[in-house]
Amino acid sequence: MGKNLVLVGGGHAHMVTLRDLGLFTNKGHKVTVIGPSAHHYYSGMGPGMLGTSYTSDDIRFATQKEVEKNGGTFILDKVTHLDPVAKTVFLESGGSVPYDVLSCNAGSYVPKTCVSEDNGDIFSVKPIETLMKAQARILEISAAKKGVISIVGGGPSSAEIAGNILQLTQKRGTIRPEIRIFSGRNFMARFPGKIRNKVMNSLAKRDVHILEGSRVKSVKTGQISLDSGKEYSSDIIFLALGVKPSDIFQKSGLPTGPDGGLLVNKYLQSTKHPEIFGGGDCIYYQEQPLNKVGVYAVRENPVLFNNLMASLQGQPLQAFDPGGDYLLIFNLGEGEGLLHKGWLTFGGKLAFIIKDYIDRKFMREFQ
Ligand SMILES: Cc1cc2nc3c(=O)[nH]c(=O)nc-3n(C[C@H](O)[C@H](O)[C@H](O)COP(=O)(O)OP(=O)(O)OC[C@H]3O[C@@H](n4cnc5c(N)ncnc54)[C@H](O)[C@@H]3O)c2cc1C
Repeated sequence: MGKNLVLVGGGHAHMVTLRDLGLFTNKGHKVTVIGPSAHHYYSGMGPGMLGTSYTSDDIRFATQKEVEKNGGTFILDKVTHLDPVAKTVFLESGGSVPYDVLSCNAGSYVPKTCVSEDNGDIFSVKPIETLMKAQARILEISAAKKGVISIVGGGPSSAEIAGNILQLTQKRGTIRPEIRIFSGRNFMARFPGKIRNKVMNSLAKRDVHILEGSRVKSVKTGQISLDSGKEYSSDIIFLALGVKPSDIFQKSGLPTGPDGGLLVNKYLQSTKHPEIFGGGDCIYYQEQPLNKVGVYAVRENPVLFNNLMASLQGQPLQAFDPGGDYLLIFNLGEGEGLLHKGWLTFGGKLAFIIKDYIDRKFMREFQ
């Protein structure tokens, strides 16, 4: 008899499952996908969309359409929590959905704990949809004056956002803003020196100021306050402080890792509830901590697809192998990129061309 498969979020780890959804429905299983948007945005191309290298259509997947085309049901809503004993997920709208097998790919969010007051013009780098609103506001301000834009956080997404703001104003012919990155102690501290230096040089030659050595204490519309007591005014503020896994699991009392992500074993399966699976930024992989990068979500796809099918059909599960070193390419805007893999690191136009090629290929495969 057919069973109920429920997918929470149509993120990067569900791409293969969504594409091949018909294989579940053909076997008589009912598939329900729950997500807050009819589309899912490919984050790797988000900064490029901010910089107008891509349109929003170029970087999104028509999740709802894909689900319905393959005989599934799409519910436009957000999961707030779940009851693993009653095997039910609860929705923001007040409804609930029962499941036999559940797969969670609800991603991560940028915590806003440092924001003391928000009357607008504060944008987080996730969800990617926010970058569209930020783009409109940057163009409005830069059409009138030399604005000041601050980015709080010192990871690669800060660098990508900074470079693509410059590209945006250059392409649209508006006034180039002053950009400051508040990086806390060190900019891109978890990366090797040669990557940090190349990214810093690329930004410095374009007059992006990187302020190292002091943490941001609080942010409110128009103002950034540092631990040191210094204050900086700013027309627009981006929050790029790193991400935290979706809070669904902690709220549901499920076993989680130290970051609050769903604790999963090598089969991408909850360590306590064998009918719950997960992938992407919202999980904590028990075997070894994984960086919150789309690369892992993408690598998890075939295993998640296989294990959901196996779980419904009573077949053996497949173990996930995170694989070795992965290719990193940052889009630093204005045609510049930075590529790193193993011993190889180089910056410049070629790095961006390679990223653009890989990202477009990924979109063609799943869009
Ligand atoms: C600016 C930026 C650039 C990046 N560039 C790269 C890059 O070039 N390469 C790389 O490997 N990584 C990159 N990353 C990291 C990458 O974004 C993440 O690792 C990746 O998005 C994780 O995929 P995911 O599917 O787990 O989560 P997400 O992309 O966050 O997707 C989660 C999905 O779940 C949905 N959802 C969320 N909450 C709920 C809920 N409560 N109920 C139901 N559905 C929900 C969302 O709408 C979304 O569709 C970048 C991150 C940022 C912020």
